[in-house]
Amino acid sequence: MNATVTDIVGGPVVAPASRIENFIRSTRFDHPTLVIDTQVVETQFRALKAGLGEAHIHYAVKANPAREIIETLIANGSRFDAASRGEIELCLSLGAAPDDISFGNTIKRPSDIAFAFHAGITLFAVDAEEEMHKIAAQAPGAEVYVRLIVDASEADWPLTRKFGCARDKALDLLALATELGLKPVGFSFHVGSQTRKARMWTTVLDQVAEIWHSAIAAGYALTTLNIGGGFPAFYGEEIDSPTAYAAAVMDLVRARFGKVERIMAEPGRGLVAEAGMIAAEVLLVSRKSESDMHRWVYLDIGRFSGLAETEGEAIRYQFITDRDHEEMGACILAGPSCDSADVLYEKRPVQLPLGLTSGDRFIIRNCGAYTSTYSSIGFNGFPPLDVVVI
Ligand SMILES: *Cc1c(COP(=O)(O)O)cnc(C)c1O
Repeated sequence: MNATVTDIVGGPVVAPASRIENFIRSTRFDHPTLVIDTQVVETQFRALKAGLGEAHIHYAVKANPAREIIETLIANGSRFDAASRGEIELCLSLGAAPDDISFGNTIKRPSDIAFAFHAGITLFAVDAEEEMHKIAAQAPGAEVYVRLIVDASEADWPLTRKFGCARDKALDLLALATELGLKPVGFSFHVGSQTRKARMWTTVLDQVAEIWHSAIAAGYALTTLNIGGGFPAFYGEEIDSPTAYAAAVMDLVRARFGKVERIMAEPGRGLVAEAGMIAAEVLLVSRKSESDMHRWVYLDIGRFSGLAETEGEAIRYQFITDRDHEEMGACILAGPSCDSADVLYEKRPVQLPLGLTSGDRFIIRNCGAYTSTYSSIGFNGFPPLDVVVI
């Protein structure tokens, strides 16, 4: 069966209906529901792995912690990047080996560091002196890598300066780690989420390589380079295949770092976004005045019930309706809650069928990453996003 898919510029393109789409079409949902296909997770994992070569994949659990996803990844030999005790417990409870989990959040509760250490986790991220002292106290002798701030991100969802230390502090942190009896093993960074082109990594890798080589020149026997996430998903703008993209990134890495004992990559979005679609519904279509240029289309899902990445209209999802063969027109797309920030796309209106009406099924494509985890627990009485795994 073929279904028409609404292209971002408005023209319908024909794509084969996926298992997820068929499932949604044959099911009735009372609430917005994220439907995940673990076969797609497996396919994406293998495709990324094929390109990443010697690098180890540590799935960034926060992108989607559905247990079936974690289980699928464990079965395929994935490792994990966890940000909290909860994520560590989840991975361990499903059978991940402690050695395969890194504690990648640079802002950790001391009791969580102690928990992780006693559970057998020995690799921690750090970007500040206080954190180094916490790790030394709670996880004596552990391996640490220093997270660096990188600039000039060209990502669609950049990560700003919240995480990482500037380059002029990086070596001091390595020295502090040694002084405190920890093992400073290397560096990490994040190029920015949804970095659409591999060539956008170039300047960031240049920055990291400069510090890497100065640390080696200063006598540190670095073993670990963590290249973070950033691997893109398809949201309508062309991207390379996961294998080609990952291979191109690794070529850039090898050219700058040579042989590194342990390279870690932490895809989140690139592994799971295309494995999920949300089944939603149109609640209302209206115009604010007789002369209003745009219709307003209100869905039963919005910024607080899973679509947080529409903030700043940064991530532009694509949609499927049952009327995509009908005439299209621009509209403003909004969520159902009583918060005026709950508008998904207004600056760049969305093309949707003119016949769209209350009660119509509304499918949001490629939204398996950063949706269920961003869904609020009952804001305005709306239930959190349901998740179904097929
Ligand atoms: C969120 C996160 C990732 C995953 O990023 P994506 O852009 O989704 O691939 C990787 N590493 C760290 C440390 C993160 O916080």
